[in-house]
Amino acid sequence: MMDADPYMLAQADKAHCWHPFTPVSDWEASDPLIIQSGQGVYLFDIAGKRYFDGTSSLWCTALGHRHPRLDSALSDQIGLMAHSTFLGMTHPKAILLAQRLAKISPEGLDRVFYSDNGATAVEIALKMAFQYHCQKALPEPGRTRFLALTGAYHGDTLGDVSVGGVGHFHALFKPLLFETLRAPAPHCYRCPLGLRQPDCLMACLGEATKQIDEHAESLAAVVVEPIVQGAAGMITQPEGWLKGLADHCRSRGVLLILDEVAVGFGRTGTMFACEREGVAPDFLCLAKGLTGGYLPMAATLTTNEIHSAFRGDWANPKTFYHGHTFTGNPLGSAVALAVLDAFEHDGILENVNRQAARVAERFDQDLKGRRFIGEIRQQGLMVGVDLVQDRAAPTAFKPLIKPAAQMCRIARSNGLLIRPLGDIVTFLPPLISTDEEIDSMLDIFMASYLEMEKAVGLELSK
Ligand SMILES: *Cc1c(COP(=O)(O)O)cnc(C)c1O
Repeated sequence: MMDADPYMLAQADKAHCWHPFTPVSDWEASDPLIIQSGQGVYLFDIAGKRYFDGTSSLWCTALGHRHPRLDSALSDQIGLMAHSTFLGMTHPKAILLAQRLAKISPEGLDRVFYSDNGATAVEIALKMAFQYHCQKALPEPGRTRFLALTGAYHGDTLGDVSVGGVGHFHALFKPLLFETLRAPAPHCYRCPLGLRQPDCLMACLGEATKQIDEHAESLAAVVVEPIVQGAAGMITQPEGWLKGLADHCRSRGVLLILDEVAVGFGRTGTMFACEREGVAPDFLCLAKGLTGGYLPMAATLTTNEIHSAFRGDWANPKTFYHGHTFTGNPLGSAVALAVLDAFEHDGILENVNRQAARVAERFDQDLKGRRFIGEIRQQGLMVGVDLVQDRAAPTAFKPLIKPAAQMCRIARSNGLLIRPLGDIVTFLPPLISTDEEIDSMLDIFMASYLEMEKAVGLELSK
């Protein structure tokens, strides 16, 4: 079948599509990138131009495009059935997936509740945490609040936006949201407390534990992204912060929800990021990498202790009244099982650590110390390059300069797709990238930085 020509598609897109997180007038003025196909670390646009997928298609196509294991799992499953409900029925692939997720996840997380995306995975954990406190042996229905971090991003449904803290995404919706307690993000480069390591003695953790103590009776749960706060700006947590927080939650009977939608499935170099601090949460939220970015599927893992508070009787069923049409979708489950096979047999984690070292070394040699490089934050293959106008301060750029967006535009024309987060350039290549592929991506990254540095330098001297 012939696709329509690119010009017609662009016109039809502008007439009928509505793109997420995309300013309408920018989009209307743009020459839209129309992607036609993918292979491994590459995407191809409709004119046949090749790009490196340097964001893993927004952090999810972790094993690249057209992965043989994933493709065949999907076509095998479609030969059986595309969908059957998980409400009051079950099917083999979702059962086997739950069993395997229980086996590979941190201690105690033996129950799996499926949904469709990262936002629902977190929303479900919030609702379950509250309902658990209402129904446990000694009920505490007064535990109605949540604590989250400044700058937090947990998805775009209203519950997630309530615990979220990204001002320019979330401020408008404030009248619709429930109130959330807020602790400072552990962000050493731009410390919200104005302190410096190591003299600070992790005062940010002290701020969080103080809030937990003050609201110990009304808190249902603390929700955080472990190790790296992704959308907040690739903010990497100091060692010991997560463990300290988890221990404190436990000591106060406050549940811990870890949102591993971005950091899970090998992104930071371990299967789950919380493993790095030996933390086992009460809820683990997974999506993005779960199906290698093939299908919209998510999972909220929890403990049998939590689950048992939802076991009632005919008079009081204690049911969790939450579900989605596509809960436990068999196609998604089949592909997720193939993702776990790949992690088990193909040395993915070893490769992440190998390539992460390569990226770190190159950034250290070629980028560090350059004019606009404030901080390079990296865990595994999750990287944020924080650009600043003046490294000594570190100061934000004059308005309208948008260096990260400029650099990403240049990189795109050079064949690398990366995205800005404010003045931060993010780089999250597929976890299966080879030495040569990483080197080529880094070549384009450096060249694009230098071109941006020159252009922005000129703008600033005007
Ligand atoms: C992407 C993301 C979400 C939301 O996931 P969707 O699938 O886009 O709904 C939630 N939490 C974190 C940490 C994320 O990175």
